[in-house]
Amino acid sequence: MLGEQARSRPKAKPVRERRVARASKCAGCGRDLTTAAERKVGRCADCPPTYDVAQFEALKAWRLAVARATSVPAFVVFTDATLTAIAEKRPASEAQLRQIAGVGTTKLERYGAGVLAVMAGGDPEQEAEKCCAAMGSADD
Ligand SMILES: [Zn+2]
Repeated sequence: MLGEQARSRPKAKPVRERRVARASKCAGCGRDLTTAAERKVGRCADCPPTYDVAQFEALKAWRLAVARATSVPAFVVFTDATLTAIAEKRPASEAQLRQIAGVGTTKLERYGAGVLAVMAGGDPEQEAEKCCAAMGSADD
């Protein structure tokens, strides 16, 4: 029965995070995650990020360059949550990259090589250019 609860529920912003696969346990300490923000990053508020900040920044720079070059908002390339997950899991192959929530077949094809190159220490701007050049020639 939804009845009362459904009616009395305040008109909050629509929940738009359903598409994002959410972790229910903290990746750091394993305790249950209670807030949406915690689930999104897969970590409780007490556990520090486990990613390399410089690498995460490189991924963000790459994402921005790709977004600009292809005229899409940055989150369309990858959301912050996905980018964080990539930085934390450090995929070394497309197969590993594909395991990450938010990385589907299309994104893997478009961005996989670029992400892996940046993870391997490639220059974000250059990798974004290569990525976009490849997309331009691809028959979408
Ligand atoms: Zn934790």
